[in-house]
Amino acid sequence: MDQIRIKGLEIFARHGVYEEEKKLGQRFLADAVLYTDTRRAGKSDDLEASTDYGAVCRRLEEVLTENSFNLIESAAEHAAQELLLSFPRIERLTLELHKPQAPIPLPFSDVSVRIERGWHTAYVALGSNMGDRDGWLELGRKGLEGHPACRDVKMASLYASVPYGGVEQEDFVNSALSLRTLLSPYELLDVLQGLEQEAGRERLVHWGPRTLDLDLLFYDDLVLDDPRLRVPHPDMENRDFVLLPLCELAPAYRHPLTHKTVRQMLEELRARGEGQVTGRNGSDF
Ligand code: ATP
Ligand code: CA
Ligand code: CA
Repeated sequence: MDQIRIKGLEIFARHGVYEEEKKLGQRFLADAVLYTDTRRAGKSDDLEASTDYGAVCRRLEEVLTENSFNLIESAAEHAAQELLLSFPRIERLTLELHKPQAPIPLPFSDVSVRIERGWHTAYVALGSNMGDRDGWLELGRKGLEGHPACRDVKMASLYASVPYGGVEQEDFVNSALSLRTLLSPYELLDVLQGLEQEAGRERLVHWGPRTLDLDLLFYDDLVLDDPRLRVPHPDMENRDFVLLPLCELAPAYRHPLTHKTVRQMLEELRARGEGQVTGRNGSDF
């Protein structure tokens, strides 16, 4: 991807663990590489179509001077997030924050922290089979839409389905949503579980009735095999109530392990004659 590079931006700020550092302040230097598509701006010669690097420098100065962090790690983390939120055309960035006057009692020329942050694409499955089922799904959607580190939340249609996994219980309403997020996979899982809690979810029986179930299906093309978080979500190829809504949002998305597209997984499931879904948006299939 194209890059806009800023090097050696000088900022006088007050980050450091010592009182003196917070009181007196010192010189910091920032280098940033902004990954963004510059083609449209390049063709049109229009600043509006690009990311204004002057504005980026001013914003960086603002966020680094209006806060006083103990660690340059925190200063960099905060600044990276603010830049990504303030300039929507930046897909990802690397930010290096130098502290050449850090209190180290030995001769040295520089110390710095360099981080890379950016927007990720995630897909989430939603399900409910207790109480106001459509309302709980809406709570999930709104929760992500209103989260400061999430954007472009899109939700598929609602599907009615009969329970999966052999526990006797009410029918489900299912859907899926896609979003762009600055959250890490574990941070996103925490947000999803927070929303399940908000919906009053209680875990009584595995695969049992629930007000709101939010499963992380895909996170970019990440593969994670941790019991706390498995990505891609296992078993999706056997669940039409996951694949049908997901196919509305991302038919050509490839499973990073099997390399099958969502549409292909759905077609194979249908060819086996399996499925839980009975209707879409209130009408029978
Ligand atoms: P299934 O995951 O088979 O659909 P379930 O949704 O009923 O079953 P839960 O009781 O909601 O299962 O979740 C059990 C645990 O699964 C959670 O505490 C969570 O840590 C873990 N988990 C692992 N991978 C994921 C994922 N991709 N999305 C959500 N939770 C996950
Ligand atoms: Ca589930
Ligand atoms: Ca779950």
